[in-house]
Amino acid sequence: MRPIFDGHLDLALFALAHNRDMTEPAAVSNRREEGMTDALERGLGAVSLPDMRRGRIPVCQSSLAARVNRKTMPVSRLDLDFGTQAMAHANAQGQLAYYRVLEEMGEVALIRTAGDLDRQWERWERHSDSDLPVGIIVSMECADPILGPDQVESWWEDGLRSVMLTHFGHGQYAAGTGVEGPLTGRGRELLARLAEVGMTLDVSHLAEESFYDALDHFPGPVIASHNNCRALVPGDRQLSDPQIRLLLERSAVIGSVLDAWMLVPGWVHGKSSPENVTLAAVADHIDHVCQLAGNSLHSAIGSDVGGLNHMPSDFHTIADLQKLEPILAERGYSEADLDNIFHANWLRHFRGWLPDS
Ligand SMILES: [Zn+2]
Repeated sequence: MRPIFDGHLDLALFALAHNRDMTEPAAVSNRREEGMTDALERGLGAVSLPDMRRGRIPVCQSSLAARVNRKTMPVSRLDLDFGTQAMAHANAQGQLAYYRVLEEMGEVALIRTAGDLDRQWERWERHSDSDLPVGIIVSMECADPILGPDQVESWWEDGLRSVMLTHFGHGQYAAGTGVEGPLTGRGRELLARLAEVGMTLDVSHLAEESFYDALDHFPGPVIASHNNCRALVPGDRQLSDPQIRLLLERSAVIGSVLDAWMLVPGWVHGKSSPENVTLAAVADHIDHVCQLAGNSLHSAIGSDVGGLNHMPSDFHTIADLQKLEPILAERGYSEADLDNIFHANWLRHFRGWLPDS
């Protein structure tokens, strides 16, 4: 199996908001959740550390996800909304604590440096069939838990290595999915500090004006961890072709995402069924980025695996990311292209931008 680097997951959020143990297979968690009705995704989990090992995923970015109270998210409530930044901060620190405990348990390896990344990757190359820890680069989905620009350095010391400025609606620092507007004044100050410490800016979820504003003001490394293409699916959550071209100029990697509402036009959370959505749609978005770039050096996977009620119908756990290989191979993607998309592009970004020590 070809190793996969997944550019976006929310492992701590699922653990702490859904009370779901990431060290047991999703099938086991799903049986525990039979009959529970407090969230749409109960019994429909598709990601866990054992499933990642089964699907040969040595490394992912996994988020700290918390935000100041907004009601615009189009999925089941996941308890990532908090009334104040102080509370969002405390929750995100709790998610970080979860990753740290998983590391002490030998379940994950937190990756803070380029050396950590190389060691993790080599370890999996040497022992492909064992119970190795899953590598996690800690990212942040919405910067609201960072109380202000002065706190960037302490988050960096905590091991945070990439940051999305906002999520859905208006955040403390930028406008996000579903709304319009530029960065806030504090958003610009935050960007300057993020650049100073060497943090990767993840532009996923930025509203269009905030997107251009952020790229104008941020001289550092840029990615779009989980983002599909507006040419295929209308809507501000997707990147337009001009946005993708600008990201290509910045050498960004763009992760294609599996959530059905970002894969096909007209899909509505809580109403549509994933029946007619398949992994072939993910390949369409990967292909669109590759066609715009003229190569396979910018497209990757940022699966954002959530409940099976909004994942492709031929996808049952995260191990099924491997099914993308024959789909892309059939479309003419070479072995080298598949390596780029499955892991080499993300590896190049993080080997280049994580600190040496
Ligand atoms: Zn997201």
